[in-house]
Amino acid sequence: MKIAVIGGGAAGFMAAITAKETNPKASVTIFEKTDKVLAKVKVSGGGRCNVTNATFSISQLIKSYPRGGRELKKSFNHFFTTDTVNWFENRGVTLKTESDNRMFPSSNSSQTIVDLLLNTAENLAIRLSYKSKINAITASENRINLSINGETLIFDKVIIASGGSPKESGLDWLKKLGYEIVSPVPSLFTFNMPKNPITELMGLSVPNVITSIKGSKLRQTGPLLITHWGMSGPAILKLSAWGAQDLAKQNYNFSVQVNWLSINEEELRSQFSNMTSSRKQMYKHNPLEIPKRLWHFMLNKLEIAEYQIWNELSKKNKNRLINMLLNDEFEVKGKTTFKEEFVSCGGIDLSEINMQTMESKRHQGIYFAGELLNIDGVTGGFNFQAAWTTGYLAGKNSAL
Ligand SMILES: Cc1cc2nc3c(=O)[nH]c(=O)nc-3n(C[C@H](O)[C@H](O)[C@H](O)COP(=O)(O)OP(=O)(O)OC[C@H]3O[C@@H](n4cnc5c(N)ncnc54)[C@H](O)[C@@H]3O)c2cc1C
Repeated sequence: MKIAVIGGGAAGFMAAITAKETNPKASVTIFEKTDKVLAKVKVSGGGRCNVTNATFSISQLIKSYPRGGRELKKSFNHFFTTDTVNWFENRGVTLKTESDNRMFPSSNSSQTIVDLLLNTAENLAIRLSYKSKINAITASENRINLSINGETLIFDKVIIASGGSPKESGLDWLKKLGYEIVSPVPSLFTFNMPKNPITELMGLSVPNVITSIKGSKLRQTGPLLITHWGMSGPAILKLSAWGAQDLAKQNYNFSVQVNWLSINEEELRSQFSNMTSSRKQMYKHNPLEIPKRLWHFMLNKLEIAEYQIWNELSKKNKNRLINMLLNDEFEVKGKTTFKEEFVSCGGIDLSEINMQTMESKRHQGIYFAGELLNIDGVTGGFNFQAAWTTGYLAGKNSAL
């Protein structure tokens, strides 16, 4: 049995290792177009590699995938987050969980993961062929031909794990095989607000906000970070992931609304009612759970005087303040990549794949894994989990 794996990333290595462990007699080769493998694993998670997420319920986990969650349910039944933790632990790499559920190697270094995958592949005698770009695939009844650097090689099974492509043209070689492609657009980005005064508060983090895109149903919660170019943090990144396609269509020109307190108007009015009989100065007495700098910024923006006393606040200004706290609106013009940690939304349409085996429905013997598929998760280890799961299933089922 000759198995080719196209792409030396997380999904490709997981697929190759699983194929060889399932069928030790098979000859398994990873073809990598560059002179480096596992490049993204190395730089991932700020050099620490956020391997997976400590979410141990399938119905909960799939909520973190704007694309592919429903379909992944079938795959997670076979290889789940608990399997990822065990897979690494059984091979000597323990993972630790941080307070937000992200899981990293206990060493805090992505090199631990790179070394494990490379050493395991070497011990299993998996061949690594560098600078080997696959330009074309042709499939006939019992064999698959790969065109590599002008040469044609024949395999029994092929696993395609060539990663996300920022442009649709990068997937032309798969389109030629007849596969339906969902046009790729970037996911996981931060919002640019050029010259918006809010950027004066750069570095400020607000612990729990609700963000929404004006004119849509998109809404997310979580911490928000103000940056020198606009806004970032989980409440923004999640919005960018769920809105990836809509926001691309709007050419990244839209309005975002922020509820700085994550409460409703009734709750806010009741919190204010304790203050409105007070003789305290508004600047010095902020009754709300928002940072002092943001409170001062808002009072300034509303031109509320520095010596304004709570019980002398006009009804009009009170309403303006409430509106700003619950429904602050910012114009977004463009996007910025978050710590280079972007993923592609789009890729091979999942209706092409049997999600229990990762085999193509169109061509027997061709399997798919990783970010090349129309699957993407929010930040937190979900993208690697999808790569481990789909890589494992493709490897196992191709080798049977
Ligand atoms: C900076 C950064 C940080 C990240 N951090 C995290 C994180 O901490 N946690 C998380 O869950 N996700 C993270 N992600 C996302 C995650 O890295 C990817 O989703 C994941 O690496 C996808 O794995 P893959 O194997 O599908 O693709 P890739 O890692 O992209 O691997 C595909 C490989 O295929 C090769 N290739 C492509 N075309 C061909 C061809 N025609 N022939 C031969 N070879 C080919 C490529 O050169 C590449 O080596 C991060 C992404 C980035 C960019």
